[in-house]
Amino acid sequence: MGDARIIDGKALAAEVRARIAVAAADLKTKHGFTPGLAVVLVGENPASQVYVRSKKKQTVETGMASFDHTLPAETAEEELLALVDRLNADPEVHGILVQLPLPDQIDADKVLERIDPAKDVDGFHPMNAGRLSTGQPALVPCTPVGSVLLAKQARPDLTGLEAVVIGRSNIVGKPVAQLLLQENCTVTIAHSRTRDLPGVTRRADLVIAAVGRPEMVRRDWIKPGATVIDVGINRIEADGGKSRLVGDVAFDEAAEVAGAITPVPGGVGPMTIACLLRNTVQAACAIEGVALPEV
Ligand code: NDP
Repeated sequence: MGDARIIDGKALAAEVRARIAVAAADLKTKHGFTPGLAVVLVGENPASQVYVRSKKKQTVETGMASFDHTLPAETAEEELLALVDRLNADPEVHGILVQLPLPDQIDADKVLERIDPAKDVDGFHPMNAGRLSTGQPALVPCTPVGSVLLAKQARPDLTGLEAVVIGRSNIVGKPVAQLLLQENCTVTIAHSRTRDLPGVTRRADLVIAAVGRPEMVRRDWIKPGATVIDVGINRIEADGGKSRLVGDVAFDEAAEVAGAITPVPGGVGPMTIACLLRNTVQAACAIEGVALPEV
């Protein structure tokens, strides 16, 4: 391993959660409400079940209210839409998260667009995506927010940096690029049709890899001293028939060249739920009409 600073996502996520716990307690005593997050899970996707359990646990641990809705895999779209309508109308619910992926009979876009944009703590509603891209206050997708907070651990001021985002999904690539523009980076968004991806990536002072290809970004793609944020979560076969998680960046190689890098696991992953809780506090304050505490 080289000299790169390892950016500790677990530690930063714990700090964010601690600030949220203080804010949640304060909102209760000073303003008489508890931020509430409703999580809807349809079906029995094992990865989704793990995410939903962690979301619930951390919501409760930070002193917020958690509302669970688990529906069978064969749930009709109309039924799910009716549940979203009820949650939209429920004054105790400030944030609504419908866990993706949804079963085939349900149109995910239709469901996400049914969520009240004020309660859209995943930030996937077109209204929030539009507000983000026009620079208005918005609920911003959690993984992109977490990625930028991690980048700022290494370089508190991102102004003027060449940033290359690899991946253009609505969930990660596009919103993270928007946030980096707001931070005054010069942003390039690369994707599967990009010509000379290693050459493009080598220009970057800040690389955000959100591709879903195990260890695709190699040592010679990284400019010496660059900050590397690895969003990828890929499960690969390991010795002895076991599996392990790797990112989209070949960590050991990249760490020899980079100035700072996030590990997988322990980098972006833990920040995602912390930022979900942060969004829930933000949504609750906006809905209840009180100033947002420092979280
Ligand atoms: P998507 O599959 O939606 O998007 C992947 C993007 O990568 C696409 O824009 C695609 O390009 C691009 N891409 C694919 N192959 C290549 C290639 N060979 N060269 C260049 N670009 C390529 O994935 P997501 O954005 O949802 O997720 C990306 C990764 O982040 C995944 O590993 C996922 O597991 C992880 N993730 C982690 C989270 C966390 O909490 N840490 C949360 C969300 C995601 P094109 O558009 O041209 O097809």
